[in-house]
Amino acid sequence: AAQEGFDPEEVEGAIGEAGHGPLPVLAVVGRPNVGKSTLVNRIIGRREAVVEDKPGVTRDRVTYEAEWAGRRFKIVDTGGWEQDVLGIDASVAAQAEYAIEAADAVVFVVDSTVGATDTDEAVVRLLRKAGKPVVLCANKVDGLSGEADAASLWSLGLGQPHPVSSLHGRGTGDMLDAVLEALPEAPAQTFGQAMGGPRRIALIGRPNVGKSSLLNRVANEDRVVVNEIAGTTRDPVDELIELGGITWKFIDTAGIRRRVHLQEGADYYASLRTAAAVEKAEVAVVLIDASESISVQDQRIITMAVEAGRALVIAYNKWDTLDEERRYYLEREIETELAQVAWAPRVNVSAQTGRHMEKLVPAIETALAGWETRIPTGRLNAFLGEIVASHPHPVRGGKQPRILFGTQAGAKPPRFVLFASGFLEAGYRRFIERRLREEFGFEGTPIHISVRVRE
Ligand code: GDP
Ligand code: GDP
Repeated sequence: AAQEGFDPEEVEGAIGEAGHGPLPVLAVVGRPNVGKSTLVNRIIGRREAVVEDKPGVTRDRVTYEAEWAGRRFKIVDTGGWEQDVLGIDASVAAQAEYAIEAADAVVFVVDSTVGATDTDEAVVRLLRKAGKPVVLCANKVDGLSGEADAASLWSLGLGQPHPVSSLHGRGTGDMLDAVLEALPEAPAQTFGQAMGGPRRIALIGRPNVGKSSLLNRVANEDRVVVNEIAGTTRDPVDELIELGGITWKFIDTAGIRRRVHLQEGADYYASLRTAAAVEKAEVAVVLIDASESISVQDQRIITMAVEAGRALVIAYNKWDTLDEERRYYLEREIETELAQVAWAPRVNVSAQTGRHMEKLVPAIETALAGWETRIPTGRLNAFLGEIVASHPHPVRGGKQPRILFGTQAGAKPPRFVLFASGFLEAGYRRFIERRLREEFGFEGTPIHISVRVRE
């Protein structure tokens, strides 16, 4: 395969499309029933019917990818919140706090037919404290007559209220233009990393797998570094911990330590927190309770990290409790339930006894190295050339699609663009991914492959 005959602009264009780095995060917050979910559905352009969710039904999906005017970003939707857990004010505030913390910018939705309430004012105080850019959405302005109601929201002191009807779409374009102005090109965390800050770890897993035990174990064995490094003041919930001679930033340790176990809505809290931590992290360490069967919830948490494009380490905790039989079944479960992440480094630990704690850092470093890998274009194409020669795509309808040229569009995680003479079947794409992993490693990282068909 050669680059011959390829217009550099075409290649650049494809790289631009496939090669986005971590996306900035937009949080949509506000009281219940102001129309947050309706707005989010409109922005993501999908009918996910979030609005029809029954109260109390757990939604584990809280972040979505969206695009406006050619720019992509993530939305954290807080619409699934159950208001009656803590009382309305407290729950709205808690929900907003989580979401704001994860976000680079915030859309604050107010029901303009109701006007600003005390709860709204409470959220405004949180927003001021957080100091993140805010776009004020005056929702339910379905017609001209509502504009005056919207204007009265100037009183909130958040600048211009954007009159919007999430239901009908009125005004959403103008509001999204304002959102793009408020949203940085890349998430703040990326800038932090560029300045050489500590690597960021999200320690995640379902309740009771041993997150706080593990955190205490690693924080006790090694020195806990005072939270004084520049740029960390914004995130008092994160903790700097020295492990294996390196300082790491553990994301949202307050959430782990505090262990608020609410009854109703607790799962939703947990999902939101997990998603927020993953967004802020480079590597996710997913803790699994090895003494219990691998659950759907474990899988969802892993999927969250993979979909967010983070490096991944899987730690099987409570190893001290395993007998022969359980060990046997665990291996079978891992093979069947977690085959899709067989590339993730694995450690078998016990937070209680300290077993294999020293293996955690090497596993994290391996995953981060895979995540950051860049393959030079020449080497990649030599490799692709060999594959095309030895394992050509099957002939379909008298034609045989060929990979003509490939390039790595980006890293963290690695993203590839393949130019092909025809559509490449899913099976063949999987084969390419498998071979890429065999050849170049990519241990601990998801990889993305997109294919451009050249007519
Ligand atoms: P959330 O609890 O903030 O997520 O609010 P929802 O999105 O579930 O909306 C609450 C109710 O307000 C639903 O019945 C929506 O159909 C309605 N709603 C949302 N946006 C608008 C709007 O722009 N205009 C009108 N008239 N109703 C809306
Ligand atoms: P979290 O909810 O994920 O933070 O889990 P915790 O750290 O609170 O742990 C839940 C329970 O599991 C506690 O009773 C811990 O003592 C116990 N636990 C945690 N790690 C281990 C371990 O490695 N071995 C054993 N036997 N128990 C553990």
